[in-house]
Amino acid sequence: MSHRSRACTALLAAALTLAACGNKSATTGVLKAAAVDGARIEAADREPGNWLSYGRTYDEQRFSPLKVVDADNVKDLGLAWSYDLPTAHRGQESTPLVIDGVMYVTGAWSKLFALDAKTGALKWQLDPKVPGRAAVNACCDVVNRGVAAWQGKLYLGTLDGRLIAVDADSGKPAWEVNTLQPGSRATITGAPRVVKGHVLIGNAGAELGIRGYLSAYDADTGKLNWRFYTVPGDPSKPFETPALEKAAKSWSGEWWQPGGGGPVWDSIIYDSKLDLVYFGVGNSTPWARGKDQPANSDQLFTSSIIAVKADTGEYVWHYQTTPRDQWDYDADSPLMLADLNIDGAMRAVIMQAPKNGFFYVLDRATGELLSADPYTATNWAKSVDMKTGRPVIEPAANYSANGGVFMAMPGPGGGHSWQPMAFSPVTKLVYVPVMEAAFPFIAEAAPKHRELGWNTGVDFNAGSLPQDPKVKAAIKAGLKGHLAAWDPVARKEVWRAELGRPWNGGVVATAGNLVFQGNSNGELVAYRADTGERLWSSPTQAAVLAAPISYQVDGEQYVAIEVGWGGAFGLAAGELARDTHIASNLPRVLAFKLKGTASLPPLPAVEPMVLNPPPDEATVVVVTHGKWLYHSYCSTCHGDSATGTGVLPDLRYSAALGGAGLWSQTVIEGLREMNGMVSFKLELSPADSDQIRAYVIHRASEDKKAEAAAPKSH
Ligand code: CA
Repeated sequence: MSHRSRACTALLAAALTLAACGNKSATTGVLKAAAVDGARIEAADREPGNWLSYGRTYDEQRFSPLKVVDADNVKDLGLAWSYDLPTAHRGQESTPLVIDGVMYVTGAWSKLFALDAKTGALKWQLDPKVPGRAAVNACCDVVNRGVAAWQGKLYLGTLDGRLIAVDADSGKPAWEVNTLQPGSRATITGAPRVVKGHVLIGNAGAELGIRGYLSAYDADTGKLNWRFYTVPGDPSKPFETPALEKAAKSWSGEWWQPGGGGPVWDSIIYDSKLDLVYFGVGNSTPWARGKDQPANSDQLFTSSIIAVKADTGEYVWHYQTTPRDQWDYDADSPLMLADLNIDGAMRAVIMQAPKNGFFYVLDRATGELLSADPYTATNWAKSVDMKTGRPVIEPAANYSANGGVFMAMPGPGGGHSWQPMAFSPVTKLVYVPVMEAAFPFIAEAAPKHRELGWNTGVDFNAGSLPQDPKVKAAIKAGLKGHLAAWDPVARKEVWRAELGRPWNGGVVATAGNLVFQGNSNGELVAYRADTGERLWSSPTQAAVLAAPISYQVDGEQYVAIEVGWGGAFGLAAGELARDTHIASNLPRVLAFKLKGTASLPPLPAVEPMVLNPPPDEATVVVVTHGKWLYHSYCSTCHGDSATGTGVLPDLRYSAALGGAGLWSQTVIEGLREMNGMVSFKLELSPADSDQIRAYVIHRASEDKKAEAAAPKSH
């Protein structure tokens, strides 16, 4: 600890106020923006008015010690201010930082905004000018989850893979590096963390064939200090580390050709006592496995939690949640540190509720598995063998070898994905936003490498939503979500709040015995942390994915949330997504305080859209092939079965359906590349493009007929 930070900590302890420590220039007395360092993050509880890093503290419990707002007075919470994000009406996933009265929040397309945390007034904004074509590399929307702060700079990862250091006073870039390897189709959507002057960042893209890694850049200069590859490279070349040499024994075939996968796209966390960095790793490429692949092919370190030394990135331990992951069960979900009394002894643990449906508690010094229990319905594995640490996988789940369909619970959206969970040291409960959405896994008969689009080996066309109304209704009935309060010691759910809809927001817990969560119904809700009783809600005019934070300015406690819907499920799930969130999708930051009197403007009037497709005259053969092409190249963004989801253009209503000209200019020539709709001319011929158009016309016609037949609602 430096002199300055030690003095800073002492001053903070004495003053117990927010602001000013270590960030006042000696010569001018002017506050220096974002003057955050490790000592300050370590002592974050002494300045509960601030939110200094992604999960507030290094342990990322997302617990605010503030209690001006509590279970008794939360009914008086009202809007203090709102800020309309000048960005696309797409997924907004950012956790804001609040440092000495300034909020730093990101939006879609990796845009960064500095706002006055008391008023919402814009101080500056930075548009990193992500090219529209980067959107096609994003599995899960053009989202960004936030920045890190360190010694006057902010660190922003961009969708096209750059890491930018930004002067927190001016909003001007200080340095910029490309974190991607040449030709890589990876993206950055996660928030960097800074540990001991290392800016830590990974990337996303397992579905597109990348080789995953976590990088550490020097916070001052942008120099690469170390990089940990999560999967071994070409074995004809020397392995980078002994850990990778060992890991290579768990692979078969020519895994390095498509890249192997193993992306570090969200969780990165630091334990200062053990001086370890932990991070989550995603699935391998592709999802589906060849029938001839040996059963012992675990594919390390995919779908694993890894611990490395903070200064060097040297391997310490790993725990693989899903060996030979065939179901997109990334272990990238948020990680959280806590000290828990387990069997009469205090244990320093790390916890995760990854997509695979099990809640894991590990000893964080050794990686020893302490418990693993299903936090939601799981049918791919009933339990985890505590002796081996391996899931007991159901034979039916091995769809690649079995052929046919495996209706997996959880689906690839996960029982819980990136949406932050929270832990209250008061209730000793972990609050997990849970998603219930099954998915039909069917291996592609002839897996095809695609230059653009997903290389999952899974047949999205065969698994697309049937148009039979009864089948549709049955599938929709199984689509739900809830907020679970999980006791990680007793290993059971203590309460749950049903949400009805699956794809909801992250969570914050507070010392006021409250848990806040935004949801797809377009509301921010406060629950009693100990019982789950719903105490308060406010409309948000958009469905919510991001997690709220709480902070304090001039003695007033605020609860802030970024709203705006999209993300993986929000784009890809077609009708299932379209019908499970409110229609309006106005991207904003909202801040609430007791007796806040601001209000949101009335919702703009929306002209009802009328389905009016050209005549459906194509042959069954053309429509069938068009359907296959659509689900191979288009559905990830425009939605299953060409239904749209209310986020990106619903193609059934497209004016371009009227003729091959405009349609082809868009699909083949890239007319709308600036919006993220790239040219598919490497992939699709003009005839292919026209067959997709024929399929969309067919779908629009089907739905127009169904609308005409349905009873009118008033
Ligand atoms: Ca994945």
